[in-house]
Amino acid sequence: MAIILDGKQTAKKITDELKLKVQNLDKKPSLAVIMAGNNPASEVYVKNKEKKALEIGFNSIIKKTDENITKEELLKIIKELNEDDNINAILLQLPLPKHLNEKDFLDKIDPKKDVDGFCSYNLGKLLKNDSPYAIPCTPKGIIRLLDEYNIDIESKIALVIGRSNIVGKPVSILLLNRNSTVIMTHTKTKNLENLTKTADILICAAGKKEMIKKEMIKENAVIIDVGITRDNDGKLKGDVDFNDVKEKTSYITPVPGGIGPMTIAMLMENTYELYKIQKGIK
Ligand code: NAD
Repeated sequence: MAIILDGKQTAKKITDELKLKVQNLDKKPSLAVIMAGNNPASEVYVKNKEKKALEIGFNSIIKKTDENITKEELLKIIKELNEDDNINAILLQLPLPKHLNEKDFLDKIDPKKDVDGFCSYNLGKLLKNDSPYAIPCTPKGIIRLLDEYNIDIESKIALVIGRSNIVGKPVSILLLNRNSTVIMTHTKTKNLENLTKTADILICAAGKKEMIKKEMIKENAVIIDVGITRDNDGKLKGDVDFNDVKEKTSYITPVPGGIGPMTIAMLMENTYELYKIQKGIK
């Protein structure tokens, strides 16, 4: 019988603890979110991040810009936030408007304020297993949820579907750093089903609605579903066909209520940790 990995509850526990820690600080940690343009999904995400930040007791600054912002103007905003001692964490909301390339901006964020952990310095440190200032929030949230339920990672076969810089690659590295045997898969992978059937831990981050069916998984596998797509009646769906696979799994995340809330909780934790690094607090 599958155990549901309750991301919502675990995230609440993490943010409740942060709230208590923030009460004892002289100055509040500040999270700045840059929102270039008006992507409707991003607007919802940014609003949720702000709500959670304020609930914990952080300052929340949203720098909303016009859709047509130039590269130079956006670089200027990043520079000002880097130089502002009142700002501890900077998040550049993705995707950017089409005429801008995220590669031109992510490395311009001060690594000590890079709350998403997407700059080359922090990703390089992650690759070397050498204390990055921040670890990307979704991958960090996945590992935290596995740990919360005492799920063994070491020596397990972990298969990751998806190789994006924000989920697939960093979560593969985190699993490797925890001595898992990692299989990375993507759209060019052949016979995916033969591989997924070998996985003790299956992490799905493809963004393909309900692509994982019960024939594709190993008996008693641990299933982490990162995917979020909306079906025709507006309901959120994961990459995993939850009802089809549930009985065959040992642990499984729901969508929604799994990795989504863990991602926001890790963003809040990263904000607090960057604040501590900047203030020299142990
Ligand atoms: P992406 O589009 O950048 O990457 C998707 C990856 O999946 C690619 O590497 C691609 O090769 C692979 N892929 C796609 N279809 C595949 C298939 N049929 N077989 C094998 N590989 C396949 O996406 P992303 O930004 O990594 O996000 C992935 C999903 O996770 C999306 O649904 C996104 O909305 C969701 N997401 C959720 C959270 C969260 O907080 N829950 C955070 C980030 C992303």
